[in-house]
Amino acid sequence: MLPHAHETVGGRPVTDIRRDFPAFDAPAERAYLDSAATSQRPRRVLDAERDYLEHHLAAVHRGTSAAVGESTSRFEEARDDVARFVGAGDRELVWAENATDALNIVALGMADASAGLGGHEATRFALGPGDEIVITEAEHHANLIPWQRLAARTGARLVPVRVDERGVWSLDAMADAITDRTRVVAFAEVSNVTGFIAPVAEVAELAHRRNALVVLDACQSVPHRQVDFGAQGVDFAAFSGHKMLGPNGIGALFGRAELLDALPPARTGGSTITVVTLESAEFLPSPHRFEAGTQPVSQVVALAEAVRYLDEIGMTAVAEHEQAFAERVLDGLAAVPGVRVLGPSRGEARAGLVSVAVDGVHAHDIGQFLDDAGVDVRTGHHCAQPLHRALGITSSTRASSHVYTSLDEADRFVAALMDARRFFGVAEEVSV
Ligand code: PMP
Repeated sequence: MLPHAHETVGGRPVTDIRRDFPAFDAPAERAYLDSAATSQRPRRVLDAERDYLEHHLAAVHRGTSAAVGESTSRFEEARDDVARFVGAGDRELVWAENATDALNIVALGMADASAGLGGHEATRFALGPGDEIVITEAEHHANLIPWQRLAARTGARLVPVRVDERGVWSLDAMADAITDRTRVVAFAEVSNVTGFIAPVAEVAELAHRRNALVVLDACQSVPHRQVDFGAQGVDFAAFSGHKMLGPNGIGALFGRAELLDALPPARTGGSTITVVTLESAEFLPSPHRFEAGTQPVSQVVALAEAVRYLDEIGMTAVAEHEQAFAERVLDGLAAVPGVRVLGPSRGEARAGLVSVAVDGVHAHDIGQFLDDAGVDVRTGHHCAQPLHRALGITSSTRASSHVYTSLDEADRFVAALMDARRFFGVAEEVSV
């Protein structure tokens, strides 16, 4: 195996970057190739959370003490930093538990609007029979089931954009699906299974020509590449902190301010309101109308630190590094028969992850073998059952990367996969 001593990200050697992460302190040297599921966290991020809890802990947006003021400033400054990172204004970023929660805030808000809640300005979100919601066959369940439920509640119809034999959908197929009946177009910027990178701005233009709303699942794009929701022209977008070197329990919903101000809040309660009577409540503008109850302040503060860390390295450099990882895996697998690589073909744009199906061996057996070989991957349907069904498989094995992943680990994945094929008796001799 090559040492790749000069491998760098944004000018920093990967060996140096790895020292920022306590997870890589131990010399045990497992290859962590499951960052698409959840990422490791730099010491700086863990320290930021601890520092807030030890030295700055106080309620936010409640009461008048200096401590509350300081805590509130930290909370809102963190919002500004994360908003800037994704091309959002500060009123355009709502805290959520994770991407799943953020997507549900939109779908449930639309369900409320469809039931007549939210007054006149919410009617733009109301769906009914005859309306259509366009999704793709490649969606993560988090960006599928909330829309299924919205359709069931309102009588709207779900329209799937089909994938090809690689698991990839085309702009032409998307253009055919979007009609005057379309009210919502929901899709992932980067597929968590295939690594396909969607043409977001082009889809947004198609949707807006028909006055449909664009909801982007940015869970696998924000952690790995430069995004700018404002410039991309999306209406809503969702992402999770734990996949972008930040804490668990924090995610965000981006929404254009005028839309967020009109969308009924799916969760209601303290801190979201202006006037409450026994019969009714009036809600604050965005973002606070959506942030009911005590907020995960330490996680918010730490997420802003993760964003600063990523910004210092530079998202273009992060994306290039992870693409090199994917290409290394694809090059390594090119000569291996019986391994079906899902997603874009070699040489086409793809994010830094590769999923494979191995002929004759279930992904869980592959996963067990790789685990024994010290390679941590994800096996299963990756919360994308319809996509796997369209591909004629029940599960796959995914290797994914982040800023700390080395090319050496790509080689280890390929070598372990070849060993697994021999172990399970499905390897043929490769003629050279
Ligand atoms: N969408 C995509 C594309 C994902 O990969 C994931 C996480 N696997 C999610 C949504 C849901 O993210 P979370 O579990 O953090 O809500």
